Amino acid sequence: MNSSTNIRTHYRACNLCEAICGLEITVNEDNEILTIKGDEKDPFSRGHICPKAVGLKDIYLDKNRLKQPVRRTESGWETISWNEAFDEVASKLKSIQAQHGKDAVGVYQGNPSVHNSGTLLSAPAFLRVLGTKNRFSATSADQLPHHFVSSLMFGHPLLLPVPDIDRTDFMLIMGGNPLASNGSMMTVPDVANRLKAIQKRGGKFVVIDPRKTETAKIADQHIFIKPATDVYLLLAILNEILTLTPSPSPTERGATHSDELSPLSRRGVGGEVVSQLKSAIKSYTPEAVASITGIPSETIKNLANDILTAKSAVVYGRMGVSVQAFGGVCQWLINCINIFTGNMDAEGGAMFSQPAFDLWGRAKKGENYFNRYQSAVRKLPEFDGELPVSAMGEDILAGGIKALFTVCGNPVLSTSNGTQLDTALEGLDFMVSVDIFINETTRHANIILPPTTGLEIAHYDLAFHNLGIRNTAKYSVPLFEKDNNQRHDWEIFEEIKNRLTSEEGAEIPTPKNPEEKLAMAMQFGPYGKDGLTLQKLKDNPHGEDLGALRPCLKEKLLTDNQEINIIPDLLLNDLERVNLNFQKLLKDSENTKFDLQLIGRRHLRSNNSWMHNTERLVKGRDRCTLMIHPETAANRGIVNLEKVQIESRVGKVEIAVEITDEIMPDVVSIPHGFGHARKGVQLDVAVAHAGVSLNDLTDDLLIDELTGNSAFSGVPVRILR
Ligand code: SF4
Repeated sequence: MNSSTNIRTHYRACNLCEAICGLEITVNEDNEILTIKGDEKDPFSRGHICPKAVGLKDIYLDKNRLKQPVRRTESGWETISWNEAFDEVASKLKSIQAQHGKDAVGVYQGNPSVHNSGTLLSAPAFLRVLGTKNRFSATSADQLPHHFVSSLMFGHPLLLPVPDIDRTDFMLIMGGNPLASNGSMMTVPDVANRLKAIQKRGGKFVVIDPRKTETAKIADQHIFIKPATDVYLLLAILNEILTLTPSPSPTERGATHSDELSPLSRRGVGGEVVSQLKSAIKSYTPEAVASITGIPSETIKNLANDILTAKSAVVYGRMGVSVQAFGGVCQWLINCINIFTGNMDAEGGAMFSQPAFDLWGRAKKGENYFNRYQSAVRKLPEFDGELPVSAMGEDILAGGIKALFTVCGNPVLSTSNGTQLDTALEGLDFMVSVDIFINETTRHANIILPPTTGLEIAHYDLAFHNLGIRNTAKYSVPLFEKDNNQRHDWEIFEEIKNRLTSEEGAEIPTPKNPEEKLAMAMQFGPYGKDGLTLQKLKDNPHGEDLGALRPCLKEKLLTDNQEINIIPDLLLNDLERVNLNFQKLLKDSENTKFDLQLIGRRHLRSNNSWMHNTERLVKGRDRCTLMIHPETAANRGIVNLEKVQIESRVGKVEIAVEITDEIMPDVVSIPHGFGHARKGVQLDVAVAHAGVSLNDLTDDLLIDELTGNSAFSGVPVRILR
């Protein structure tokens, strides 16, 4: 931290979303925040920030924010001491597990958990002690297909390819809206300028989406696609590519990266693998899928040709592609297209980052991460120690989960069939939440343990440097010291873990700061030999640039034979399910009362289900609207801003319509994260801008049956008038 006169300037990373933007914050002698701006000297974000960054000040000052533990009583919430809270939590968890077994305590970890290095470094030991198989997280309501496919093809769930956006000549974005998300499963601050830079250097980018998103509006081309049919578009593109290049080989794309892809070469890309794949997908021609996807065959052929002929190209599929019935197959096909066009692990294609804190460095080769146990009711498969979150509500209602521990998450608003989960939480014997707010989920908790947050914590982004489109490293010290009465996340996890493991009456050990683990990991990580240490990062709060991505997959592969598994059996076999669905869509004979398809959307000013309690981010026109195409509205006699009821299999909400040709006919869209008008929520600003919850309509029974990921895209709904 610099200081001049009475004004201090503090540099740090914003940990609200994946972009890890550098911030420059000025504070006066009374510790009042004067300004929050982008840090021009941050080598990654280059001065970029989004409107949410200023929200960090609002969170810090939020009068609804908890700073001390609270306990729910019949007459309301009462403040209790940390000691009392820790004792009660540990004793209740112990007694429930003693009576009903380890799995009787469930855990839900929300998205902010991965934006907090203290949580990432200390929660695993706590979870090991808890020892429950009933672990859930936001992963299976979002990006599980990415991890699933990476584990099968590359040998580790975190070996995730990211678009080399700074060097690509052609980028196909499917189901993603980076201008609103600021990059997702790709850490890419200042994404708008990076996309425009593709165009400036003579390349182009194309967006495929049922909605003309903010990103689509600046793209070279936007193509509407019927919701949840991306798998057929991808099959047709891959089929076309394999047909146009009968023996595609990485070497055809130039010698630069052929050596790096030797695992592929050894398998003989042009031989057995291609024939097997070709034969499995040959019926999905551009002509065959045109009516299903709503995309003319010529357009599909042009896309395949664009990918093939660009000097470098990358296909990137995000949320809309993952959260559908074939999310796993979609992510596999995307990897296949990038591989067979020579763009995997190649400059300008899909590459792998090399973070200073190597998350997979000590992982075992050939590890199985899938289906080692199943959920209680529907027998949905586990992945990497977690069960699909779609099963959480029904498994609580079935009685197997008696207590729940939630960490920085709001699954009542962010997981499918939130109403069912809301009911399930009411019936728990005990619930504890690590959270700073009494929100739609934590209002059910018996005890809430509020950690420090944002400007009060030290931060190194363990998760998102792993998805960086450039290798960088940055460490932030806290801007404000916590009060004596506050606790960091890592202190909370350590305290409860220590109480769970200590003998009755024994002295509870003092929590250990996980910073030591970070320092060790840096020292022995990929850049340690070049002198990168935690101290060096502390001395340079703008962050270190570690260079552009470089081909490195060969050395990272963790499959048992250290080759890319291009056609994993699980994915190949899932094509049967894809085909059955295709036949069903072709017949189009299903007589359903639900004649519209619902999709979600994300706003730049929202952060999933939170950040609505900051006035500056929610003020202005109502953003929680039902987007509907003029034709679809006219057919039903609906006028702009009229309130309608919309119904799905699981629920009904009332919402104002926004008539716009930015959405396809027969598709409607509601933004996710709203729905704050539930009894007992203590979020004054958010409740005033409550909106409705998309997830009171999404259906917990709609999932990708292979991976277990929730299928939010294309939920059947109808409008009631
Ligand atoms: S884009 Fe994300 S990281 Fe950057 S300022 Fe906004 S919220 Fe923070």
